[in-house]
Amino acid sequence: MDLYKSYKYVLNLSDTVPYKALVNLRQLVFEVTSNCNLRCKYCGYGELYNTRRFSKGENMSFIIAKNIIDYLFNLWNNNEVDYDHRQTFIGFYGGEPLLNIPFIKKVIGYIESLPVPKRRSFTYAMTTNGILLNRYMDYLVEKKFVLLISLDGDKYAHSYRIDSRGNNSFDKVFVNTKQLQKKYPDFFATNVSFNAVLTDRGDTFNIKNFIYENFGKYPTVSEINESGVLEKQKDKFNEIFHSSDTDWTNPKNKEYTGKFIEISPQFRSLYNILMSLSGNSFRSYNSLMAKEGATVYPTGTCFPFDRKLFLTVGGDILPCERINQKFSLGKVTEQGVNIDFKAIAKKYSLYYRKIWSLCKTCYAKPVCSQCFFYVDNLETKPVCLGYKNKEEYDMYIHSRLNYLAENPDIYLKLMRETF
Ligand code: SF4
Ligand code: SF4
Repeated sequence: MDLYKSYKYVLNLSDTVPYKALVNLRQLVFEVTSNCNLRCKYCGYGELYNTRRFSKGENMSFIIAKNIIDYLFNLWNNNEVDYDHRQTFIGFYGGEPLLNIPFIKKVIGYIESLPVPKRRSFTYAMTTNGILLNRYMDYLVEKKFVLLISLDGDKYAHSYRIDSRGNNSFDKVFVNTKQLQKKYPDFFATNVSFNAVLTDRGDTFNIKNFIYENFGKYPTVSEINESGVLEKQKDKFNEIFHSSDTDWTNPKNKEYTGKFIEISPQFRSLYNILMSLSGNSFRSYNSLMAKEGATVYPTGTCFPFDRKLFLTVGGDILPCERINQKFSLGKVTEQGVNIDFKAIAKKYSLYYRKIWSLCKTCYAKPVCSQCFFYVDNLETKPVCLGYKNKEEYDMYIHSRLNYLAENPDIYLKLMRETF
């Protein structure tokens, strides 16, 4: 079966794409501070990685935040959103954002002093390690924050999250979170969720069950980042790294894999495979109406600003917090904002062309969800670990289809509830 006839790959991005995405922005996220009150062993800004190493002790200056807010409000006041209504999340990220609460209060005060652009509303969001929750919970509740608390499971599973003296932060985070739940049960029920990082000290389902039993919520569980690990830290990384696949495919977890199947990595990849094999799925109405194949861009990289605008503590503009600072899309300084939509489109077009040298012969294209910012040597000679020749791809597809044949309940769930 030729899987590729239905797709027409495009390598040039128009500058209207980032422009429109900014007009319709879903999330503006501030890296409030590079300070942190923890020294988590697997921290993406820590000793294991070469990615984004900032000097400790920097707080974002209010004037930089004000400049991007003014720029965006001006854009939004002069361009209506493409939807009946757009909820834009204003996110606060760190380091640990609660270490710079005066900045957060000032930014929120400033946003609330401005007239709200038409058909738009704002919701505040924060990812926190929970250490200072006891001090600031009243304010977070008053402003109806959407809170994501980092808790890796029980005390042992959480034990890579240590303070500067090497002590496990579990007790503090647990007590603070319980206090929040007790004092503000309604807020806790609607506005709080958890993220856990999976390491060799935890197991996906033990983590989920522990947090559910104690807080009545299932957390998302994420692996530690495999990209940007320093060569000299590879052994340490391998010691800590725990692939979620090993938990999802472990027969002893059968009871849970069924229960959580819809959020499993396998479910997502099965969904992608069925979508692309069916020949009946279209990524947009334009693709549906097109006489020839659907027009798509290579890789699974999101378009610039389609998911968010992340502003680093130093004023660099990134498409998200997971991306190396060298891929900055613009800059905010105390003098103003520099976002050049043509330059951004040119940059993405160049990346598409570079990676196409691999993708054009890769059989995994139709089901690819790879972000090109995680591909080594993107700007020179890209190397993609997901590349599959025909034989590898056939084996991959067969193993997935066999899995569905052996698990008809999952196939039915996908066909009836997801498509
Ligand atoms: S990791 Fe890549 S695809 Fe995902 S949000 Fe960031 S830029 Fe987009
Ligand atoms: S897996 Fe890698 S090489 Fe294959 S299509 Fe995706 S980005 Fe391209």
